[in-house]
Amino acid sequence: MRILTPLPVAALLACVIGHQLVAAVDIEPGHVKVVIVGAGAAGISAAQKLLEKGLDVVILEAAEQIGGRIQSSNLSEGLAPEYEGWVEVGPQYVYSFGELPKWLEEKGYLQDLPPQNDIYFSDIRGQLKGEDEIAAKNLDSLFNRLVSPMEDKGFPKADRKKFSVGAYLDSAYEAFKAEDGLKEFDAALAEASYDVNVRGHKVALGVDSLYDVAIDTYNVLQMGSIELKQLNVPFTTVFKDLASSVPAKNIKLEKAVSSIVFNKKTKSDHPIQVVTEDGEKIAAHHVIFTGSLGVLKADHEKLFKPALSPSRVKAINSIGFGKVEKIWAVYEKPWWKDIQADITGFGLLWEKDLKVDKERRYADKPWYRAVETINVATFAGEHVLEMALVGEPAELKGLADDEQLAKDLTALLKKFTKRDDIPVPQSAVSSWWANPYARGSKSYISYKSIEDNASFRNLSKSTWEYQHQGLKVPGLLFAGEATHSEYFSTIQGAIESGWREAKRLIKAYNLDENKL
Ligand SMILES: Cc1cc2nc3c(=O)[nH]c(=O)nc-3n(C[C@H](O)[C@H](O)[C@H](O)COP(=O)(O)OP(=O)(O)OC[C@H]3O[C@@H](n4cnc5c(N)ncnc54)[C@H](O)[C@@H]3O)c2cc1C
Repeated sequence: MRILTPLPVAALLACVIGHQLVAAVDIEPGHVKVVIVGAGAAGISAAQKLLEKGLDVVILEAAEQIGGRIQSSNLSEGLAPEYEGWVEVGPQYVYSFGELPKWLEEKGYLQDLPPQNDIYFSDIRGQLKGEDEIAAKNLDSLFNRLVSPMEDKGFPKADRKKFSVGAYLDSAYEAFKAEDGLKEFDAALAEASYDVNVRGHKVALGVDSLYDVAIDTYNVLQMGSIELKQLNVPFTTVFKDLASSVPAKNIKLEKAVSSIVFNKKTKSDHPIQVVTEDGEKIAAHHVIFTGSLGVLKADHEKLFKPALSPSRVKAINSIGFGKVEKIWAVYEKPWWKDIQADITGFGLLWEKDLKVDKERRYADKPWYRAVETINVATFAGEHVLEMALVGEPAELKGLADDEQLAKDLTALLKKFTKRDDIPVPQSAVSSWWANPYARGSKSYISYKSIEDNASFRNLSKSTWEYQHQGLKVPGLLFAGEATHSEYFSTIQGAIESGWREAKRLIKAYNLDENKL
């Protein structure tokens, strides 16, 4: 495809000064080589838009499949057909903002979350029934309400600087107690319920410490009140559909990038060299890097030559990137249906073991002390229980040995259900933290980044502009969920960041006559 585009003013002046008669530069989009690092949601979305405009695009992906953090897995192999299904290793919920939910709705992929029918269990009392159960449910909604002021757009700016989420929740909880808000509840049950809620928020964010999370995370994302939906097919199926307009020939799998050398003085007009771990050198005019913030934290010094700017490095270091791992217990049959047929999850209230640990890490306890909820995995054919861990335990402390993990899970379930006949499951665990091309789960606004005045914008800026085909163009661009100021940590953040960077390039070459 050849497109004649008008020259920008500076280039036009140059033509006039040089007494040339042409007033347009003949841009050959197919001669603009763009290397995209990463075939996750951001990389695929950027590629789509650039290919539509005829640019020469190649995606280099370290993994053996596309999707990045979008991964579904079939845990039902070898089981009876009625137990076939899948679990989501990565994202599971769709937030209601951005373009993605509309597309999913049109395609018929989206559905409401099923009604929650969690049952509460205490390590002292076993399954809570009657008044105890009502009290646990009431406490749950009371504590949920502590979060809502943080989502209020009117939440004072000064207080956002003063409090981390952890500090704010502590003060709101103490104020609530001082006003006798918990008078009608059993004190141990109330403490255990608060503990469950705090740990639930840690899991939702994937953070090791709520004292490291800025209130802005809730204020921007509306974490507690936003409507969530889920898919009725595996996320990987949807992703393949999303990626269907990017031909396979434009994607190179198992091609990990080891360095990106920009501002290179070469004889060719490709000033960027991308080096892959298997030693291939690929010349490019532009690189869009979409690796996660975790990858940037771990490897930016190794990846970029010359080094990234101090302001970007400060943002990389101070913006938060969570660590969450999911654990699955796979059973031959859903034994929990004997307790209650429509149970959707177990809330675990550790009344007995509430020695104050402000961070609620319980690091000196077995790993499973940090588990707060166990859910029946919705699409796994009802034979799988699922739970999540954050931070320290998520770095696989005690989870590496499958047999021990299965034994621990059984001990945990016996302790809470007070039943001896719980079978030992097959276990499985995700490994986001150990994956060198993910290095964790998703980003959040850390309290430190507020102090450091570092924001997602520092990560989204392109860097190093140069002259190409008579135009000033950005050489190195960054996309990915952690570059989106509003939708960070989500799939739509990733997708829309890919579009944004494609648009930036398309605009730089004046190829944007049709709106994206
Ligand atoms: C456990 C978990 C739960 C989540 N839950 C939700 C949820 O419910 N809802 C939601 O909206 N979001 C959720 N998220 C976040 C969501 O998954 C991400 O925001 C989104 O998938 C990120 O897409 P991305 O393209 O920015 O990055 P990625 O998906 O990380 O894509 C980057 C790609 O770059 C590749 N790469 C990295 N380094 C290199 C290299 N050196 N060379 C070549 N390739 C490289 C990686 O392999 C990867 O494929 C969750 C994430 C996790 C991990």
